[in-house]
Amino acid sequence: VHVIRFAGKRKMVLSRDISQLERLENMRRDFVANVSHEMRTPLTVIGGFLETIADGIEDFSREDIVHFIDLASEQSGRMQRLIEDLLALSALETGAPAPVEERVDAVELVTSVHREATLLSGDRHRIALVLEGGGVLLGSRKELYSACANLAINAVRYTPTGGHIEIGWRSGACGGAYWVEDDGIGIDPEHLPRLTERFYRVDRGRSRETGGTGLGLAIVKHILTRHQGTLEVSSAPGEGSRFEMRFPASRLRLD
Ligand code: ADP
Repeated sequence: VHVIRFAGKRKMVLSRDISQLERLENMRRDFVANVSHEMRTPLTVIGGFLETIADGIEDFSREDIVHFIDLASEQSGRMQRLIEDLLALSALETGAPAPVEERVDAVELVTSVHREATLLSGDRHRIALVLEGGGVLLGSRKELYSACANLAINAVRYTPTGGHIEIGWRSGACGGAYWVEDDGIGIDPEHLPRLTERFYRVDRGRSRETGGTGLGLAIVKHILTRHQGTLEVSSAPGEGSRFEMRFPASRLRLD
């Protein structure tokens, strides 16, 4: 609040709502803290191994050293994934909507995502493909593939062996929808509103074990915003989850 004196004894009181500004500042601080924390953990592991080996190279067998190196390279892989995801996010955050020139065949796109999920699952799950209509999506193929694959890969990662996954596409006059449904571990409703926040995870340990960065759904959300799409999530713990991306008719050609 500013009080400004003018014209002798008169005063003007100026007030400004800065909650938005403060929220942004908090988000920036949280983000820096999160990135630093995410980087520090693998670096600590790598540094620890190097120190251990340097201190007693004579004391370890060849197998021990190979084991240390394997663990360290796993951690460096994690850092690499994290940096790739951060770069992808920052490229998407430029804010400009995705171009409409690229014509992406929806059936071809969803079929290749299904193929990738099947490969990743390697027979651990039954993965069905459901196609209800075709159409062409207008946008960036690379981004659309990344968003669709992200949801399918999450379903594989968060569904125990023997589970079922359905990957589907439907289109109509109102637009198009892509969905991934699983009967995996599910998510408590209290977490649903925060799921697309950067680094938000329900179970940190499980996300790490399966190679997660906590940035996947944030990337999905950005890609969808750039294509004027929306993300609907419904889930119940122990029963499974359904993630559905909806695209407006303006991004779809049915001829
Ligand atoms: P991560 O790299 O941790 O998977 P994401 O942004 O892709 O990050 O997802 C955020 C969190 O949402 C995950 O850590 C996980 O807790 C939860 N999640 C995402 N997809 C599923 C799913 N299909 N089933 C259960 N939980 C999920």
